[in-house]
Amino acid sequence: MPLSEPRTLQATFILSSAMSLILAAIRSGHDPIAPLPPASFHRWLDEPILCPKCDASYNLVCDYDQAVGRFFELESRKLILMLRKAIFLGHANGHKVPHFETAGVVVTSHLAPKLPATPKTIQ
Ligand SMILES: [Zn+2]
Repeated sequence: MPLSEPRTLQATFILSSAMSLILAAIRSGHDPIAPLPPASFHRWLDEPILCPKCDASYNLVCDYDQAVGRFFELESRKLILMLRKAIFLGHANGHKVPHFETAGVVVTSHLAPKLPATPKTIQ
């Protein structure tokens, strides 16, 4: 199948380069719970992800070199959609997860370690 070969190669390239990109979303006003994506320098993206139902916003961070890369917009699109969905779903539980991370396969939720005296135990 010589006609379909170039398309397959292109798809493989996009998939493999998207796999290496890791994007983290940190809720505004919160500290990262887990280490940020591996990078020599981090870049915080200009546009945060906003919850459409409340004022929660999440800032996106990734490796600087990848963020200034030629295909970043294409590579990051799927990851941003996945993070956006996770943040929207998080609205139902009051945005308890302040730190999400994805490499394009699953979205990892990083919860803050439980403190001995949380507001729930005081009540
Ligand atoms: Zn919300």
